[in-house]
Amino acid sequence: MREEELLKRLVAVHGVSGYEKAVRRIIEEEAAPYADGMTVDAIGNLIVKKNGTGGGKKIMFAAHMDEIGFMVKKIESDGRLRVCNMGWNWTGSAYNERVEFQNGVNGVFGCQGWIEDAKNDAGKLFIDIGAISAEDAAKYVKIGDVCGYFGPWTELVNDRVSARSLDNRIGCYQLLEALKENDGTYPNDIYYVFTVQEELGCRGSKAAAQRIQPDFGIAVDISPAHDYPCDLEGSNAIDGGTGIKICDPSVVCDEDLVAIMEKCCREKGIKYQREVIDKGGTDASSMNLSNMGVKAGGIVTVVRYPHSQCSVASKKDIEAGVDLASAISAYKFSEM
Ligand SMILES: [Zn+2]
Repeated sequence: MREEELLKRLVAVHGVSGYEKAVRRIIEEEAAPYADGMTVDAIGNLIVKKNGTGGGKKIMFAAHMDEIGFMVKKIESDGRLRVCNMGWNWTGSAYNERVEFQNGVNGVFGCQGWIEDAKNDAGKLFIDIGAISAEDAAKYVKIGDVCGYFGPWTELVNDRVSARSLDNRIGCYQLLEALKENDGTYPNDIYYVFTVQEELGCRGSKAAAQRIQPDFGIAVDISPAHDYPCDLEGSNAIDGGTGIKICDPSVVCDEDLVAIMEKCCREKGIKYQREVIDKGGTDASSMNLSNMGVKAGGIVTVVRYPHSQCSVASKKDIEAGVDLASAISAYKFSEM
């Protein structure tokens, strides 16, 4: 990988939807030496601009900084914390697993009754932080505090890695690397946008697209794998190359933009796969519907066990995504 340490640093910090500051701090610091302009808007998006040489298009890339997690809604008299979802969670993934609060307090998830009976209802779960009473728990955690999964960077064989929040620190990493490769000779003005609250309904990208008014909006995100038995069916495969989004329930990507992305891959020798999923969505959808309508696309990295503490991705696929983001940034769109 170009900068494995950077991705390790990005997955190590928490950024539950609406609370992305720690992630943004790392990205701001990394991007600053390469940016022609940087803005943090009112909702919390970080917009990094790199000027083109002129005569090109305005491209907005969106990689969401936020991760799924949980918010404390009630503290029980015995010190247990009751929570609600921040984004889409599997209760099965959370059960008997560790979480970490922003202030460093740790907890473990238990379930009221059989986990099989919880039927993916976060209301059936509770967090044990070791507290012995409500008063005790209140010394460490208050209503509205958020926590995210604990799941350190773990190397697997065949250049694969497992970690928490690969959704979507992979995308943040890829955009940072593409920014660093942008030497200012591209015709296009590029907006590298690190968005907030994607997991709550693509909220950040909506506001950013309104400000930027791009010609193209390209989400840089992950997509669930279908190559191992799971609850989903499709063609997404680990080590299948970077994914070019064709369609998900939230967006149909612009067919001309898809064709150009495929052309970039063929010309640059980038391994790629066409991505179609029938569950989920990305920031591409909100950019697509912004302003008077924007041509949308997506670069995705296929990830197994998404929204868990131990998602799995291929380092080769991650790097291929950077290559595609760079290639599309430099593309001469004169014919569109
Ligand atoms: Zn995502």
